This record gives sequence, C-alpha cells and structure tokens, in this order.
Amino acid sequence: MALIVQKFGGSSVANRDRIFNVARIVADTHNEGNDVIVVVSAQGDTTDDLIAKAAEITHDPSGREMDMLLCAGEQISVSLLCMALGELGCKAVSLLGWQAGFITDRSHQKARIRKIDTERLECEVSKNQIVVVAGFQGICRSDDLTTLGRGGSDTSAVAIAAAMKADVCQIFTDVEGVYTADPRLVKKARKLPEITFDEMLELASLGAQVLNNRSVELAKKYNVQLEVLSSLNRAPGTIVKEVAKMEGMMIKGVAKDTNVSSISVLGVSDTPGMAFKVFSLLAQRKINVDLILQSSGRDGTRDLSFTVASTDRKLAVDLLNEHLAVFGGTSVEYDDDVAKVSVVGAGMQSNANVASTMFEALFENNINIRMISTSEIKISVLIEKADADRAVLAIHEAFLG
Ligand code: ADP
Ligand code: ASP
Ligand code: MG
Repeated sequence: MALIVQKFGGSSVANRDRIFNVARIVADTHNEGNDVIVVVSAQGDTTDDLIAKAAEITHDPSGREMDMLLCAGEQISVSLLCMALGELGCKAVSLLGWQAGFITDRSHQKARIRKIDTERLECEVSKNQIVVVAGFQGICRSDDLTTLGRGGSDTSAVAIAAAMKADVCQIFTDVEGVYTADPRLVKKARKLPEITFDEMLELASLGAQVLNNRSVELAKKYNVQLEVLSSLNRAPGTIVKEVAKMEGMMIKGVAKDTNVSSISVLGVSDTPGMAFKVFSLLAQRKINVDLILQSSGRDGTRDLSFTVASTDRKLAVDLLNEHLAVFGGTSVEYDDDVAKVSVVGAGMQSNANVASTMFEALFENNINIRMISTSEIKISVLIEKADADRAVLAIHEAFLG
C-alpha cells in the first residue's frame, strides 16, 4: 500500500461536475488500496475574484486581512470535495492549512513554510479515510492566517508529500503534463515524458505556470517523486525527477513571464559598494531581482538596470527613490510593458549555437532585445510585452518546430 498525494488546481474543481470528476479519481486511488491525501485550490477564478473584491474596498489592504480573505477560497473547495466523496460512499475529512499543521513565517501573501506538524495528518490518515487539505495556506507563530503566494497549492502538496514521506506527489491540472511551451499559446508544443528537477525549476521560475517554482525547489530538496497530469483524461503525464532521459533534445522548453517590470537607477556613483547598497536594500524587503545590467561608467557615474516581479515594482521604486542619496543616483525609471522570454535545457551548456539561434529567431521577427541573461541551462531576454507571444512562437519554431 502506497501513500499518494494528489493535488487538483482551480480549473479541476471549478464546478459541480469537475468536483465529482476529481472525487472519482481520488476514490479510485483509495479503492485500489492506497492512502490518499488530497490538496485542492480554490474553485476556478475564486482567488482572482476575492482580490477584486478587496480592491473595491481599498487600494492598500493589510497583508493580514488579505490572507484572511484569500484563505476562504480553498475552504470552499475542501468541504465540497469531501461532500462529493461522501456521495460516492467514501469516508473523507477536510482540513484547513493550520489544521493540517502548516506553520509558516509571517510574510503575508508570500509566506514560507517553516515546518509541517504532521500529527493530525497522520492521525486522520490512520483512520483509513481520505484526507482533503486546503492548499496555499498556513498559520504563523502569532496564529494569523498566511498564504504562500499565487500558485502556492503546488507547494502545499509537495510539502505534505515530503513531510509524510509519500511515495508520489501527483499534480493534476488542465493540460496533460509539462510541454515544450505553453500548449495554449504554441499549438506545436510537445508533451515531455520526463524532465529534470533543474530544468523544471528553471521553466517554472521563468514563467511556465504549470508548476509553482517553490514546489519544484522543495521536490528537488526532499527528492519527492513528482508527476504532472490531466484531471480531465487518463493520459500519461510528465515525470519530474533528478535524472531524465535526454531524448536527443537539447532544449526542453520555452517560457514567457509577463509579470515582470524593469527598473533603472540612473547616475549611480561609480564607486565600490553601490550595487551592494542597491540590491541589499531590495533584499531586506524580500524583493527578488533578476536580469541585471550595469552600464559602463562615464563622468564618475553608472546606470544600474534590473528586473523585478511586477507585483514588487511599486515598493522597489518607492524604496529606491527614498534612498537615492545613498547611491548618489539622479533618478529612478521603470517600465511595466516588458516581458521575459527564455529557453531552457540542461543539454545546451556546451553548445555555442543556442544563443545565436535564439537571437536570430528574434531578429527575423524584428523583435528588439533590451537585456540578456545566460546561465548553464537557460538564456533569457527582456523584450517589449507586446512582442512576447510572437517571440515564444518564433523561438519554439527555431528549436523545437
Ligand atoms: P492549476 O489551476 O491546475 O494550478 P495553472 O493554470 O496554474 O493550473 O497551470 C496550468 C497552465 O499552465 C496550463 O493551462 C497552461 O496554459 C500553462 N502552462 C504554461 N507553460 C506551460 C508548459 N510549459 N507546459 C504546460 N502548461 C503550461
Ligand atoms: N488559489 C491560489 C491561487 O489562485 C493557489 C493556487 O491555485 O495554487 O493562486
Ligand atoms: Mg497552478
């Protein structure tokens, strides 16, 4: 008998029929003699709708009240799924994040899991019933509710799989697995039977929303066997693991991230320590910086440009303006109409042609590159947002067409 964690995203539980569909998948797995812990997201667009409701009231809600609100979405789906399981004759119990033992830090909306107290989970599983846990949420030391950031239910599922030493963590979604690009945008995208943790981590971090990047990080750290598959059919999905068959494919995928803004601090003093001062200021507020470009010095000054998540842009610009004198900068500029497009593949390390093939595809489509960043397994470019979809199609065609 195995212990299986199954996670179902918002579209998989969007309405009555979908909930019964999920209940049947879960019931079948349990009836085959497995212990099953299920993690669910809020139904359909519920989380977006809740965010919109808050915006009707205030433009500056406190993190605590936002999390109090957002946790409600997942509370609805866990209870409905348990009722559906009951209708199918299965014994099931729903648990909110805090009941399932999710202890997080206090950073509302991007809380990190500190630990999972598994006592309650173990106790409920031992009663030979299905346990349904609300994804995306936890509780911090001061007993306030927290959420893990958008797409965080994937992380909840992997964290439970790691803490409970599950045999496999299955992420059910609305596509059949991980593809070489978003199959909704690129019709020719191919389903990957296998992908390595490192490649998946890059794809997820670079915008392939099919898996949340922190879930992949956790899966790699605790070596959780991860599988991505469709809740709508029984087709084989994608296995994410330490070593995957290369299948002769150097490039594994193309990803697009439109949740990105570029910021430039102009006229920074051309003296040691300035980059440290700028980026430590942002790091203190947990603002992640990605592509970085420093212009060559002139007149004793430099310009420092970088990208952040759009959701962090306002805070970053406010902080930089406030501390401008510390770097001797003259002004801060930003642009929200940008996108990051990337190619990912562990096989590209030793191939000099990857960059030139990518840039050629962009050139042929008259797409201008603003910033470039490379690592052993990816190349990213920052371009205008309006060009992003064309860029993904062109780059996918060049490598995987
Ligand atoms: P869920 O609600 O199940 O968590 P998400 O919407 O978060 O689902 O993620 C699934 C979506 O991710 C798919 O519908 C697809 O459009 C998108 N996606 C982006 N890149 C990829 C990719 N490389 N492979 C598969 N899906 C992708
Ligand atoms: N409901 C949350 C969101 O929409 C968490 C998730 O779906 O994983 O971001
Ligand atoms: Mg998701």
